[in-house]
Amino acid sequence: MKKIRLGTIWLDGCSGCHMSFLDMDERLIEIAEYVDVVYSPYVDMKEFPESVDLTIVEGALSTDHDLRIIKKIRENSKLILALGDCAITGNVSAMKNLYGSEAVLQRGYFELADLNQKYPSKVVPTLLESVIPLHEAVKVDYFLPGCPTPADAIYEMLKSLIEGTEIKIHELTRFGK
Ligand code: SF4
Repeated sequence: MKKIRLGTIWLDGCSGCHMSFLDMDERLIEIAEYVDVVYSPYVDMKEFPESVDLTIVEGALSTDHDLRIIKKIRENSKLILALGDCAITGNVSAMKNLYGSEAVLQRGYFELADLNQKYPSKVVPTLLESVIPLHEAVKVDYFLPGCPTPADAIYEMLKSLIEGTEIKIHELTRFGK
């Protein structure tokens, strides 16, 4: 059996949605029979590979690096799943939009800093003026909301994609626990 090549990535999110993925617990063993994880914070792969079947994306787009990587992911992935409210709406990550990048940098690097310092412009990617959800930059095939998305919902979604069956919205409503 040819395994599904699965990528996962954590952009501007808190990692909570990736923690939820791990919360599938023993069901991860069942999923692993059908997928190869080819790129993820869970594995040691430096470059996003070619020919990925499904990429699960956590987090919004906040930097020029995020924009570059999401475009590369779109080029190299058959399907993209936006995982969690940050990826879908901007959510917590987009709270910065109320104040703008300059105010947030001032607060983080000067007002709250113990020592006078400069913006780390050489080592930290440039912030976009506004944080945006994935679908404003690339086509997204599936949206799985929640903050974080419940592990049960991730499992049912993956199972449905692996089996090639359609997932119905009303089946997800029971995952509010
Ligand atoms: Fe974290 Fe919630 Fe955003 Fe997921 S949706 S990355 S849990 S803040």
